[in-house]
Amino acid sequence: MRNCVFCAFAAGRPLPSSSSEWPDVLVVRPRSGGVRAGHVFVLPRVRVEDAGTAPEVTVVVMRRAAGLMAGHPAVNLITSKGEAATQSVFHLHVHVVPRQEGDGLPLPWTPQHTARPGAA
Ligand SMILES: [Zn+2]
Repeated sequence: MRNCVFCAFAAGRPLPSSSSEWPDVLVVRPRSGGVRAGHVFVLPRVRVEDAGTAPEVTVVVMRRAAGLMAGHPAVNLITSKGEAATQSVFHLHVHVVPRQEGDGLPLPWTPQHTARPGAA
């Protein structure tokens, strides 16, 4: 895919600071700093459109993401497939978002979830 920033990193574009890499996977810090301290993208070097395209690649990415999760007491692990599911970069990536009680960060569905009668 043209202009895919994740393919560019996989091809050798310098990674943002605090990023890391393995032979199969990159862990990239969002240039914006992310939605929370410690927010990173975990993505395969090989271009795979989304987590449902090549399960054997998704497994490798999820294994690395799980290793990162182990270092935090609370984390959201988020990935999306398709524009209707809010996917905006069509190169598989998993968001690892460290959380803490009262951080106030809503998930994308929080407004609908809390608006449902009887929702907890
Ligand atoms: Zn790509």
